[in-house]
Amino acid sequence: MTNQDDQFKKVVSHAKEYGYVFQSSEIYDGLSAVYDYAQNGAELKKNIRDYWWKAMVQMHDNIVGIDASIFMHPTTWKASGHVDAFNDPLIDNKDSKKRYRADVLIEDYCAKIEGKIDKEVDKAAKRFGEAFNKEEFITTNPRVVGYYDKIKTILSRMAKSLESEDLADVKALIEELEIADPLTGSRNWTEVKQFNLMFGTKLGASAESAMDLYLRPETAQGIFVNFLNVQKSGRMKIPFGIAQTGKAFRNEIVARQFIFRMREFEQMEMQFFIKPGTQKEWFEHWKEARMKWHLSLGMGTENYRFHDHEKLAHYADAATDIEFKFPFGFKELEGIHSRTDFDLKQHEEFSGKKLQYFDHETNESYTPYVLETSIGLDRMFLAVFSNALVEEELENNTTRTVLKLPSVLAPVKAAILPLVKKDGLPEIARQIMDDLKWDFNVTYDEKDAVGRRYRRQDANGTPFCITVDHDTLEDQTVTIRHRDTMEQTRVKIEDLREIIHQEVDVKTWLKKM
Ligand code: ATP
Repeated sequence: MTNQDDQFKKVVSHAKEYGYVFQSSEIYDGLSAVYDYAQNGAELKKNIRDYWWKAMVQMHDNIVGIDASIFMHPTTWKASGHVDAFNDPLIDNKDSKKRYRADVLIEDYCAKIEGKIDKEVDKAAKRFGEAFNKEEFITTNPRVVGYYDKIKTILSRMAKSLESEDLADVKALIEELEIADPLTGSRNWTEVKQFNLMFGTKLGASAESAMDLYLRPETAQGIFVNFLNVQKSGRMKIPFGIAQTGKAFRNEIVARQFIFRMREFEQMEMQFFIKPGTQKEWFEHWKEARMKWHLSLGMGTENYRFHDHEKLAHYADAATDIEFKFPFGFKELEGIHSRTDFDLKQHEEFSGKKLQYFDHETNESYTPYVLETSIGLDRMFLAVFSNALVEEELENNTTRTVLKLPSVLAPVKAAILPLVKKDGLPEIARQIMDDLKWDFNVTYDEKDAVGRRYRRQDANGTPFCITVDHDTLEDQTVTIRHRDTMEQTRVKIEDLREIIHQEVDVKTWLKKM
């Protein structure tokens, strides 16, 4: 097992042990790629959603939020292109009977080449020491340049074949690269076929009158069909945005990697309506703004990168992903897409209703262009959670497991601990808790020695522990311990709220943007 696999396993088991994420219907052996958020997970997820909502909606007077239904009129999905084009290219292995996404097999192959590049870089960095210039090395070292060329050739050929729906060539590429079934090593492949990812269901009771519906595969369309309603009722002027968070459903084939790729997941999307011709500037604007949002959480600049798309979706004229370094490597966390006027034009055509904007300043009507930012809430959860989980070597040669969640996102902000279960200390601890709970999610813990309780809260991600001891009875002070530094200071009970507030307040964090 590699280090990466090992780290990822720890993430999954920690999420279960500390009440963050459970397999859905676990007592029935679970349901593949469906998960439940537990008591701590639900809080963390809510805090991430709020952090996004505040940054996008509350901080922009030209962005409003809506909450559209999961069910939509079925014509929506014809107009959006999902009925015809929301397909994954699939390939089966005849020996193992396992099904794969052909594009993922090819991308994984390229990721392996990237791994070789990383090894070359590491070797050279060691060899050259201080004098090492990475940029120069990767652009001049013949072997590395060769690897990059190879990746580029493979990915652009794949993009071209997928674009022109030349599935035979996708298969040919898999065969030429001698890609084998990752589980069995077999190279006995079927043809590549397209498979639609939408879940179908029915509305209505009787078989004759029932209407075929889909569970929405993205939240974006609920925004597009409401474009004019929101614009008129909110008297919105272009440029303006509509944001929403909510569930989406995709019948994913390669459903693995825990909550990274689920069949039921949640998106946080914002569609920004702009004047045609201004899409390049807005694309750059939102790329930068979204990256700043991520960086404000302090999870390490080196863990993010942009990945511009070679193959553009049918609706886009530019697209990039913000990729994050998950325990299994850099993968898409958020997509930023310049969607042109594709969606509004399609809905105009299929509904027969005009979806245009009238500009009072220039006295002209036009179909706005759209810039989309789309992030998976569950993927963001995984990014935050996996990045936070560390094992630290301590000075006394012991280790501690600590979940260094950004404190603004932590499910529980403080644990109140009476040093002993007597002498009136629990009563004071309860009082402190009753006072703080109006402002923060706090917890009370009196079981076990205080050191063990600290460890438990560290592993739970709680930024502060507040310990009530015998001195508290005399002078109304308590010890406050900081999760990341383990530093302990003596403070007045009356100052606790302000100390915690300073550290966990959304404002403090968003201001870093
Ligand atoms: P991928 O290439 O990983 O399948 P995508 O390009 O299809 O993703 P989009 O349609 O752009 O994804 O959706 C926007 C965001 O929604 C993604 O960046 C991701 O964070 C999230 N997302 C998409 N599919 C899933 C899924 N099955 N499970 C969890 N999150 C998802």
